[in-house]
This record gives sequence, C-alpha cells and structure tokens, in this order.
Amino acid sequence: MKLEVFLGEFKKSAIKPNGEKGFRGFGFIRRALRRGGEIDPQITDLLRRAFLFAEKAHEGQKRKTGEPYFKHVVKTAMKLIQWRLDPPTIAAGLLHDVIEDTPHGLGEIKKEFGEEIAFLVEGVTKIGHVKYRGAKTQAENLRKMVLALSRDLRVVLVKLADRLHNMQTLAALPPPKQKRIALETYEIYAPLAYRLGMQSLAGELEELAFPFLYPEDYDWLIQNVKEKYEEREKYLREKVLPVIEKTLADNKIKVLEIDFRAKRYASLYKKLQRYDMNLDQIYDLVAMRIIVPTVEDCYAALGVIHQLWPPLPGRIKDYIALPKPNGYKSLHTTVFCVDNHPTEFQIRTQKMHEQAENGIAAHWLYEEEKETGDYRSRQPMFADKKELAWVEQLREWQKEFSDSENFLDSLKIDFFRDRIFVITPKGAVIDLPSGATPVDFAYHIHSDIGDQCSGARVNSRIVSLDYKLQSGDVVEILIQKGKRPSESWLASVKTELAKKHIRANVREKRKIKK
Ligand code: MN
Repeated sequence: MKLEVFLGEFKKSAIKPNGEKGFRGFGFIRRALRRGGEIDPQITDLLRRAFLFAEKAHEGQKRKTGEPYFKHVVKTAMKLIQWRLDPPTIAAGLLHDVIEDTPHGLGEIKKEFGEEIAFLVEGVTKIGHVKYRGAKTQAENLRKMVLALSRDLRVVLVKLADRLHNMQTLAALPPPKQKRIALETYEIYAPLAYRLGMQSLAGELEELAFPFLYPEDYDWLIQNVKEKYEEREKYLREKVLPVIEKTLADNKIKVLEIDFRAKRYASLYKKLQRYDMNLDQIYDLVAMRIIVPTVEDCYAALGVIHQLWPPLPGRIKDYIALPKPNGYKSLHTTVFCVDNHPTEFQIRTQKMHEQAENGIAAHWLYEEEKETGDYRSRQPMFADKKELAWVEQLREWQKEFSDSENFLDSLKIDFFRDRIFVITPKGAVIDLPSGATPVDFAYHIHSDIGDQCSGARVNSRIVSLDYKLQSGDVVEILIQKGKRPSESWLASVKTELAKKHIRANVREKRKIKK
C-alpha cells in the first residue's frame, strides 16, 4: 500500500462523524470536525514518519506467504484505523514488529517517536513472548497476564489487530505452528476480545482458528450445513424480507438497515454439541438483523414482529434492559415465521451494532447513556463469578470511561497492581503478589525447590534472591542439593507459603545445633 492511500484511509475513517449526537471521540477528531474535516498536520506527519520508518526497517523481509513483511504491519495499522484508535496506537501498529524482527531497538523508537509510542510497541513485543501451549488450567492466568503486561488497553488492541492478520495468513505456516497459534487464538485472544466487548472480532478469530483445530468437524459442517445456509438465506431474502419491510414501513418504523447474519461455523459447532448435533434444533443458522435509529424503535419493531408471527416461548431476549456481561445489547426473538419456520430476529440501534463490532474501541465514540437495567446483578455467563472478578472490574471501568474527559488515562490497566504474572522456563504462568522474589517463586513450584534454592536467573540473567520479580519475567531457579533456606530470606519474601517453610527450617536447624 502506498503512503498516500494509507493516510487517505486514516483521514476518511477518523473524521467520519458517525451521524450520532453526543460525539466525543478523541480530541484530534473533534478538532478536525470543527475545522471542517482537516486533520492536524502534526498527526499526518507522525503517521507518515511511522509508515516510512517501518517500510525501511522491514525492507527485503518476506512473510511465509511470500508477501513483503511490511504489508503485515500496514494491515495491522489499517485495522486499528477501522477501530478508530488514536494516532499513537496506529503508529504503534506500524512499528509493532520493529523491535522483534529488525535490527532497530526500543531506544531508537523512543528517540524517533517519543515515550508513548515506544511504550506501546514495547508492550506488544512483551506480550509476543507469552506463549500458550495448551494447558487448559493456564488459560485464565495467561489472559490475565496479557492484560497485566499490556498496562494499557491500546497495547492489547494492537496485539489483537496483529493476531487477526496472522490468523488470516495462517495457512502459510508449517502445521505444528499453525496448530499452536490457532489454539492460542482460540483460548486466549478470542476470549479476551469477547470480554472487551469486541464480539465480532472474537467470532472472527474463533472462526479462523476452527479449521486448524478441528479439521474433521469443520469438514463435516461444510458438507452438512453449507446447503442449509444457502437455503435459509434464500428463504429470508425472498419470503421474509418483503413482508417485514412492508410491515415496518406501514407502522412508520424507520429502518436503517436489514441484513442476514449467518452463524459462524465455530459458534454453530459449539451450539450443535449442546443439541446432539441436530441441525433442526438450531433456529438461528441465519438470523435476520434489523437496525433502527432509537431504543424505542427497537421495542416497536419487536412488537410489530410479534403481531405478525407468534414468538416461541422462552426465546425472547432483552439484552437492552439486561446487556450481556461484556456489554452486548440487542433484542433477540425467535418466531414461527412464514411457512411456520422458526426464525430468529435481532433488533438493535446503530450504536449497539457498532459496539458489538468494535467493543471497547467504540465506547469512546459515544456519550454515556442512561442505563435502563441493572446488569451488574447478572451472573457472567461464561464462568464462575469469583474467578472472573477481574472481568467485573474491566466492565465497571469500561462503563466509567466513556464518561471521562480524560479517557486515555482510563485505558491504563491498574487493577492488577497487587499481582504479578511470571513464567517458568516451560511456559507455565505463575500468579504471585507484587514484590515477590525468586524465593517465593521457588516455593510456589515446590517446597524442595524453595528449600534448596541457591540462585535464580531472570530472563537468562543471574539475579540476587531478593530481586523483585516483574510481570512477564521468565524465572529459572538454581538449586544446590542439600542446601537449607537462609533466615535472611524472611526479610524479602512476600508469600505466606515461603515464610512458613523458611521458619520451619530455621527452627529445625536450631534444634539440631542444640
Ligand atoms: Mn506482527
């Protein structure tokens, strides 16, 4: 892609005023709107420099697909433009592989582009070292670690854009690598995207991973469902659409858009497993999606549909009054439609639609709106509430920050302030209190390892035993057979577990001396 095209896309997307009242957006978009759509030249200059820097840095490098490497970083940045992120994040998208894959270091990025962009690029590089190798029990810790390492959600968003493009080009990689990356995407990044409210991205990532993880099931679905999809869509287009369009118009309900949402294979597969693989039980194979201007229109449209066709009991879901835990809002209903076919309708406003697509990224485009129901009292649908306390915090924070003038500050992730996440040489993630030392880590692994601990390597460098571990550190414990713990460790360890073992050993040593 040419620089001018890239900048053109940026301008076009950034100043799209979205047609909604209460537009807050980033300061640069607001100012551009006031100036009739002209972006501050400093911003275009920043993006120009980042574009040219990355182009030069990746010069001659090729992806496994045979394409120039630079194309990958432009694709990543384009996604971030689509999510309407701020210019430093877009620049970080262009520069995100510079540290890892080119001779240029962090210092140079700091010098050329300043602290903020360097911080974002460094964050993406750090998360890149987190690898998921398939231990289910590790997944939740790993998701937390990705967030903790990021320290700023914009880092996660760059990583998600990067991962999306990697998934789109996954076929070019050798099979074992395909599998590892697909699994990591399925277990770590898709759920993270989901919890950030990026429903559509989460679905897309899962769908891209699915054929690599479950090739046989995927083939089965293609063979058995493809025709059904086409059949359903034809039915909706030819039989249902004309009726619904006319009836909504007769009732003076303005419709912005009606389209069909085909259920993705990955999500269909999960659902089929709950329904004995019986396709006839799935009513939302293809759902009809109606987008209307206001919340009132949503309920009015629902009423019209229910007058036309009787609803299936228990299938009316009001996610406007009770949004899903990740913030998803919409009305869903399944009715006995034309020719008595159960058919699902989803009704939402443009704003809800955009939030479902872009999640967190969409939030700051709108002013806070009065909530109609208390969804805090609802149980998260995906897991045990206690385990997911951090998601609650994330959601609380999401809600707050659309209200905040200084919303860039609110992108900082500080709710893991009191925990750190470190990695064993084999890639397991260990969750420790902040300030923990290699000794805490050693006892966490095993009491024998703690007792005989004689030294530690962190990120391949020898450190002292009172070193304060940082999130993302890879920690390796050196042991000396028969060594006993030292009383002096008590001054620096943080966990009760370590203290207990050290004290017990010290007492024993004294007894032996006597
Ligand atoms: Mn990349």
